[in-house]
Amino acid sequence: MIALGDRFARTLPELSVAWQAQAAADPALLLLNEPLAAELGLAPDWLRSDAGLRFLTGTALPDGAAPVAQAYAGHQFGGLVPRLGDGRALLLGELPDGRDLHLKGSGRTPFARGGDGLAAVGPMLREYVISEAMHALGIPTTRALAVVATGVTVHRETPLPGAVLARVASSHLRVGSFQYAALTGDGNLLRRLADYAIERHHPDAAAADNPYLALLQAVIRAQATLIAGWMSVGFIHGVMNTDNMTISGESIDYGPCAFMEAYDPATVFSSIDSGGRYAYGNQPAVAAWNLARFAETLLPLIDPDVDAAIEIATAALDAFKDSYQHAFQARMSAKLGIAQEDPELVDDLLALLEQQRADFTSFFRSLSAGTVPDGFGDWARRWRALGPDIAAMDRVNPLYIPRNHLVEAALTAATAGDLDPVRALVAAVREPYTPRPGLQHYAEPAPEAFASGYRTFCGT
Ligand code: AMP
Ligand code: MG
Repeated sequence: MIALGDRFARTLPELSVAWQAQAAADPALLLLNEPLAAELGLAPDWLRSDAGLRFLTGTALPDGAAPVAQAYAGHQFGGLVPRLGDGRALLLGELPDGRDLHLKGSGRTPFARGGDGLAAVGPMLREYVISEAMHALGIPTTRALAVVATGVTVHRETPLPGAVLARVASSHLRVGSFQYAALTGDGNLLRRLADYAIERHHPDAAAADNPYLALLQAVIRAQATLIAGWMSVGFIHGVMNTDNMTISGESIDYGPCAFMEAYDPATVFSSIDSGGRYAYGNQPAVAAWNLARFAETLLPLIDPDVDAAIEIATAALDAFKDSYQHAFQARMSAKLGIAQEDPELVDDLLALLEQQRADFTSFFRSLSAGTVPDGFGDWARRWRALGPDIAAMDRVNPLYIPRNHLVEAALTAATAGDLDPVRALVAAVREPYTPRPGLQHYAEPAPEAFASGYRTFCGT
């Protein structure tokens, strides 16, 4: 069996509680990520065996594994919750390649508060589908290794089949981990956490004059790059609380997330986001806000003089805007197949897309196919004058994304026991750029009647 390290648990014992997964009554494999398993050196045949399913549900782990529930705090919709933590999740340990293996839906932990510690099949498959799509789109993300049905019934508005997601991540350190450590008032703990984060994710920061400032700067850059990736494909996370923002710069916790179809910065799908805090167009500003909360936790490490620390951190945070713009413009230039950045051309395009309510994904493939939609003629002439590289465009603009109506249909079918639609959807979005026969419906927006009323619900 593969070895699982316990480095996080040993290095930062104040940030976790040793805990065991709840046994699955009747485990059955729903989806297994064979390419990821191969990357990790895990044999698919073994993962499919009884022992493999016990491993994937956390009930039979290799010797030396020390599963823990991680503690973290977080700003949820702007309000600080000092103690959140893994209420229904466990860090099983570190894989030989250094990444975390983690479970979601594995039973109540001391952080469960009122929750049942469980997860339903639908939301766990949604995380699998969306994270595979993000990975294929070249956007940093945690990965789903498997979804295993537990045979346990989960009670939501209706009784639903339960499942456990096994997930792989660079780490599960979040802005909320730093908030939790800062709130303990233990400066030594905070420093150990920062050192651990530097070593694991941003090792170059260790050699900087001010390693903790360098850590802040590295996280700002990683998040600017990440959010630019989201914006370039119309991804809306839906619940960008500080406990859902990683230090590594990977996307994490796919709850009420969805892809925007008709371009509109005000697009919100999540039923709990009535104020539109996490609307598509707000995501860069929210990331900057979350990074300010991260910076606050680091102040005592950046400089013992608090005024000096604030000045230094503020200057670092000011760089987010440029970092983000640079990353976003690079993505947009690639989407438009143009060698040089042209922010004005991009702005004018976004204004037109909004005005025409154009589908944000298929528009770019129409453009490369030479079928410029009505209303874009003048803009397209300016674009063509730049000599766009059409073949390069088709290598970065996806044909197939997880369309909301198809995701919902696939999850509904899977909940009722039919896994074919979700398997087909995963196969389509894993290779998003290459047209294949029979996949046209994955390339088309939802019928208007579906799109206008579409709401997503938190992954509970
Ligand atoms: P999330 O919205 O998945 O990022 O979760 C926010 C917080 O709620 C985290 O602390 C979770 O561990 C916790 N949580 C969510 N659902 C449940 C549940 N069913 N049981 C226990 N804790 C939960
Ligand atoms: Mg979360």
